[in-house]
Amino acid sequence: MRQIILHGGVGSSSDLSALLDKYASYSINYEDPLDAVVAAVKYMEDDLNFNAGTGSTMRLDGSIQMDAAVMIDGNFGSVINIEYVKNPVQVAREVMEGTPHVILCSDGATKFAREKGHPQYDPSTDKAKKRLEDARKVATKDPRFFYSSPLSVDTVGAVANFEGKIAAALSTGGSSPMMRGRVGDTPIPGSGIFVKDGFGIVATGIGEEIIRRQLSFALYCKKERLEDEWKIVAANSEFSLGVVGFNGQKPFVLANRSMAHGFATVE
Ligand code: ASP
Repeated sequence: MRQIILHGGVGSSSDLSALLDKYASYSINYEDPLDAVVAAVKYMEDDLNFNAGTGSTMRLDGSIQMDAAVMIDGNFGSVINIEYVKNPVQVAREVMEGTPHVILCSDGATKFAREKGHPQYDPSTDKAKKRLEDARKVATKDPRFFYSSPLSVDTVGAVANFEGKIAAALSTGGSSPMMRGRVGDTPIPGSGIFVKDGFGIVATGIGEEIIRRQLSFALYCKKERLEDEWKIVAANSEFSLGVVGFNGQKPFVLANRSMAHGFATVE
């Protein structure tokens, strides 16, 4: 059996779930789960509804720096603060498969993308510019801006389980408002993403909170009683958090706010 599950970020409207079902149904046609999750995340990176790739939010200085990651059992690749590329998730995959490293960051990541043939691409949109104005207002008003008024956490992720083989991918423009150089949970294994022993998970929410909890690894450790553990996590968080994935053959969608998600299966 092949299954894939997608999310459009915690806080995203469930009205977008039908669109994500469609992206899931396209992506499930690949043979390999890694191909499927990368394809699914690319659809969402190219869709202005989401905060990843084109449509990413801007840093407080007006720049766009993106994070993305892929993971399979036993291997991982990510890019941190990459700029001027269309599909960061594809670069993360190329880091995993085409370098001796697992993470590339900043100008090194962007330079690597160029070497791999990713042309210069400006992902900024009018929506991102408008959001930046709001972010700057919040940030000037309150030094703890990030926590009092997070404006955007609608990152994207996908997990596929093809005949028990699991792959996960995710991509984000980051939680807004945020400083240039800030790194969230997305490119950190065990925080925003984790795959091991028939379990695969991707997370969304304020990255700092996800990193402090090492949320994805913590839930893997408690996978025998996943739903109960999630209730404890949700009860102890005043912030928006969400995860999707597979616990063995069983898909799960857990979030403390609305979260668009999509699903497809093929017997
Ligand atoms: N977790 C992402 C970050 O903090 C944001 C999100 O989930 O939308 O960068």
